[in-house]
Amino acid sequence: MIGTIFDIKEMAVHDGPGIRTTVFFKGCPLRCRWCHNPEGLSAEPQLMYKEARCLHCDLCRRGCDHPECQPFGRCLHICPENCLTVSGRTVEATTLAAELKRSAQALGAAFGGFTFSGGEPFAQPGFLAELIDGLKPFHLCIETSGFVSPKIFAEVLGKLDFVIMDLKLADPRKHQKFTGVDNAVILENFDILRHGDKPFLIRTPLISGITDTKDNLDAIRNIIGESDWEKIPYNDMAGAKYKMLGVTFPMEKPFADQEGK
Ligand code: SF4
Ligand code: SF4
Repeated sequence: MIGTIFDIKEMAVHDGPGIRTTVFFKGCPLRCRWCHNPEGLSAEPQLMYKEARCLHCDLCRRGCDHPECQPFGRCLHICPENCLTVSGRTVEATTLAAELKRSAQALGAAFGGFTFSGGEPFAQPGFLAELIDGLKPFHLCIETSGFVSPKIFAEVLGKLDFVIMDLKLADPRKHQKFTGVDNAVILENFDILRHGDKPFLIRTPLISGITDTKDNLDAIRNIIGESDWEKIPYNDMAGAKYKMLGVTFPMEKPFADQEGK
């Protein structure tokens, strides 16, 4: 099955046990206002444009015959300043699995396994399942928002070795407001995780005035009990990527509806 990814990061040390290779799936059903991977939101390959370096020479707009350039209406190969790149690559799961296994061999005994991240890996369930099958018996981990049907979640969980799942906001109304979706299905999947036999870690990004409030953190602790929990400081370096995609970074807008305001 064909899927779309936007990055492969080798030597990752924060994406599960050991030194890992992380595959970033393209497409996510959530719209967290703080999302630091905006190129992972759309399921489609996207043009990224470094406007600050552009000479406005229009060479890229003169037309070309490269098939890969046609969807974007710009030649991707002619820019003297390398201003244009495409985020997103479509690939067969079996081809990607073979490529990843070759790169893992080169990393030798220190290699800890593969992690599926994004975007949301569960947004491409068939591709994810085929990739998992192609990468066994390596240690396999997923980083997920948990926003997927419990049936698919439980099925895929059975094939994984470790799960890192976000619980961002306990209050359903605030979850809807700040991520674009209700958290009911996420909490349902957390229950499956908690009652299963797979090791897991819960993560909460600390977003000032939104997720880092005492009320929210206490409520999450109540939900997860003694489960392992990591609170992640917010990385606000994503603004440049939003600009390259030609979209506004939601965190740059004032939030009249933010917690405490
Ligand atoms: S070719 Fe490069 S520098 Fe010239 S207009 Fe296109 S993006 Fe800008
Ligand atoms: S779940 Fe992750 S990838 Fe999706 S919008 Fe939220 S932060 Fe971004």
